Amino acid sequence: MSLFERVEIVAVIVQKFGGTSVANAGKIRQAAQRAVDAKRKGYDVVVVVSARGHKTDELVDLAAEITKTPRPREMDMLLSTGEQESVALMAMAVHELGEEAISLTGAQIGVLTDTTHTKARIVSISTQRMRELLSAGNIVIAAGFQGVDSNMNITTLGRGGSDTTATALAAVMNAELCEIYTDVEGVFTTDPRLVSSARKVERISYDEMLELASLGAGVMHSRSIEFAKKYRVHLRVRPSYSDGPGTLIAPEADGVTSIVSGVAFVRNEALISLVGLPDQPGVMSGLFTALSSAKIPVDMVVQNVAREGYANVSFTVAEDELPAAMKVVQVTAQSLGAQEVTTQTGLSKVSIVGHGMQSHTGVAARMFQVLAKHSINIKVVTTSEIKISVLIDRERCSDAVLAVHEGFELHQASAALPQVGYVATSRRNGASDASQAAVADDIVSRLEGMESILVSDVSADMNQSRVTLSNLPDESGIAEDIFTAIAEGGVLVDMIVQNVARDNRATISFTVPFGDLDRSLLLLREALERYEGSAVTSDRHIGMLTIAGIGLRSHTDVGRRVFRTLGDNGINVQMINTSEIKLSIVISASECDRALQLLRAEFGLT
Ligand code: ASP
Ligand code: MG
Repeated sequence: MSLFERVEIVAVIVQKFGGTSVANAGKIRQAAQRAVDAKRKGYDVVVVVSARGHKTDELVDLAAEITKTPRPREMDMLLSTGEQESVALMAMAVHELGEEAISLTGAQIGVLTDTTHTKARIVSISTQRMRELLSAGNIVIAAGFQGVDSNMNITTLGRGGSDTTATALAAVMNAELCEIYTDVEGVFTTDPRLVSSARKVERISYDEMLELASLGAGVMHSRSIEFAKKYRVHLRVRPSYSDGPGTLIAPEADGVTSIVSGVAFVRNEALISLVGLPDQPGVMSGLFTALSSAKIPVDMVVQNVAREGYANVSFTVAEDELPAAMKVVQVTAQSLGAQEVTTQTGLSKVSIVGHGMQSHTGVAARMFQVLAKHSINIKVVTTSEIKISVLIDRERCSDAVLAVHEGFELHQASAALPQVGYVATSRRNGASDASQAAVADDIVSRLEGMESILVSDVSADMNQSRVTLSNLPDESGIAEDIFTAIAEGGVLVDMIVQNVARDNRATISFTVPFGDLDRSLLLLREALERYEGSAVTSDRHIGMLTIAGIGLRSHTDVGRRVFRTLGDNGINVQMINTSEIKLSIVISASECDRALQLLRAEFGLT
C-alpha cells in the first residue's frame, strides 16, 4: 500500500451473545443474522460468543463427578471448550447466510493473560489478526471468556467473563459500540423477578453500573464495566429475542438524573470481623496484603473509630468464599495481635445507587426510614458518593428490596429524566495519514496492561468533621432516627460507617461539612435522649482521603498499596469505608497533606 493511499476506516461494532442467546441451532442462526445485518450496514463486525446454554455449568458438574479438587489448569482446559463449540457453530451459521466468517479461540486472537487459572486477568490483546481478517471481509467470531498465558496454557477469565472479552475487544478495536445481547430487556431498577414493578432504564453511567454490577444486579460482569469506563466504550445491553433498544451504559449524562437509579442486593454474604486490633499504623497493611495475595475479593470494608486504643475491622466476602478467607484471616489476625475473629453468615447486602444522592440531602434518612418501617435491623453501613449499602439478615432481603424500591418510587420514570438514545452510525470516511498514525498510537497505548489497576484520583478533604454515636441499642429504627434528625436540619451527610454491633451495642460514625458540625450535634441531641447510655463524640478536624478509580473491590491490590503506603509511613488509619469505585479513609488532619503526597506518588499521579 502506498503511503499516500487513502485508507477507509470502517467503524467496528462488537456484538456479544450470551449463553441463552446461542443455546440451540435456531438461536445461533438468529444471532448470526444480527451479525450479518450489521456487516451489511457497513460495519466491521466482531462477534464474541459464550458457551451454549448451561454448557459451562454442565462441565463444572462433570468435573465434580470425577474429583472434588480439580486442578485449575485442567478446569480452564475443560471450560474453554464450551466457547470453542459456540464459535465454530456461529461461523458456520454466518457462512450459511452468505457472508465470510472465521472463528478464533482466545489464544488465536492473542488474548494474553496472567497465569491465575480460572480468574485470569487480561494483560494484552493483539489486534493484528482480527484487523487482517476484517479487512479481508470476514466477520470475526471470537471465543469469549478465554485467553492464554505466556506459557501457552489456556486460561479463563472467571464466570461470566465473556462480557469482559467483548468489552476488551471493543476497547482495543476502537469499536463504536459494544452490544451485549442477552435474555433480558436491559438494565432494571432492580431484579424484576423479585419486584414486578421494576423498570428498565434508558441509560446509566459507568459508575452507577459498576456499583450495581458488583452489588449483585447480575446484568453484566463488573470487570467488563471497568474496561468500558477505562476506555470509554459505549455498551448497549439489549435483548436477543426482540428489537428492544435495551440500556445504554455510557459516561454520565448531563443534566438532571434521578436521585436513585437502582436497588441492588447480594443475598449470600458472610461477615468477618477482626476485633481488638491494636490501633496503630501498619495493621491494615498487614491484613490487606494477606487478602490480596490470596486474591480474595472483599467488600464492605468498614473500620469505625477506635476506642481505648483498639480498632475493629469488618468486611464481607461471598458466603462460599468464607472458608478460604478464614484460612488467611486466622493467621493474619494472630500476627497482627487481634483479640478475636468473629464471623456471621446468613446475611444480605442491599444497596441504593444513584448520582442524585451527591447533591440531595436526606437520601440516607429515607432509606433508613423505609427499613425501619418494616422493622429491618441494619448491621453494617457503608457509603460512597453514589451508593448506600446496608447489611441485614438474609430472611429480610426480599422485603427490604421491595420496600426500598417502592420507597424511592423507582417504578416511575422520573419526569425530569432525559431520554437519551445512542444511535450507532457507521462512519466510512477517508482518513489522513496523520489520523491513521494517531489511531495506531492510541491502540498501542490501549494494549499496555489492559487490566492494570487504575486509580484515577487521590484527593483529600479537610473540610469534614466526624461525628460518632456509640453505645446505641442494636435495633431497627436507630439509623432512621439519627439521619432523619440530621436531614431535617438540611445537612448533607457524606460518609456513613457502621460496623457490627458488639455486645448488642451499635456505633455509627459519619462525616458532615465542617461548618455544619455544631448544628448537627444540636440536631442529634434530642434523638439521642431516647437512647439511654448512648454517647456522642466528634472530631472537628479530620483528614478524609478518597482513592477513586475502578475495580477497588475486585482489585484487592489497591487496598494493599494504599494501606502499605500509609503504614510504612507511620500514618494511622482511623476509619475506612469502601465501595466498588472508591475507598475512603479518615486519618488525622495533621497528616492529611503528607498522606496525599505519598499516595499520589504511589499511584503515579502528579
Ligand atoms: N461460559 C462462561 C460462563 O458461563 C462465560 C460466560 O458465559 O460469559 O461463565
Ligand atoms: Mg454464561
